[in-house]
Amino acid sequence: MDFQEDARTVKLTEGGEAIARRIIRAHRLAERLLYDALGNISESVACEFEHTVALSLVDGICTILGHSKICPHGMKIPEGECCKKILQKVECSIIPLSRLRIGQIAFVASSNCHDDRQLHHAYLAR
Ligand SMILES: [Zn+2]
Ligand SMILES: [Zn+2]
Repeated sequence: MDFQEDARTVKLTEGGEAIARRIIRAHRLAERLLYDALGNISESVACEFEHTVALSLVDGICTILGHSKICPHGMKIPEGECCKKILQKVECSIIPLSRLRIGQIAFVASSNCHDDRQLHHAYLAR
């Protein structure tokens, strides 16, 4: 952290800014994953995730999510190395059942309901 002369401004150093960007990226990707897979966002899980997950795992999740650029709150997800290196754009393969087209084939990845007859999410076969 770097304090400016007027002592009213606090600015992160270049290294500190990189760390903050990594933490924000992990947090927002966790939100995206929870929202897309389970249909809700657990802030406590996302907060724990941002500090404990390995960088390689964050990039793996980013890839599974199709290098998503926006968290469920509409905030920008900072780009990772995986996003820069992608040769082929991969779309997120986990979507709510409500987004399936008639006749589209899918596998159920998870359910988030009290009754198994009310399945909400599917994993698409591509
Ligand atoms: Zn968010
Ligand atoms: Zn990525």
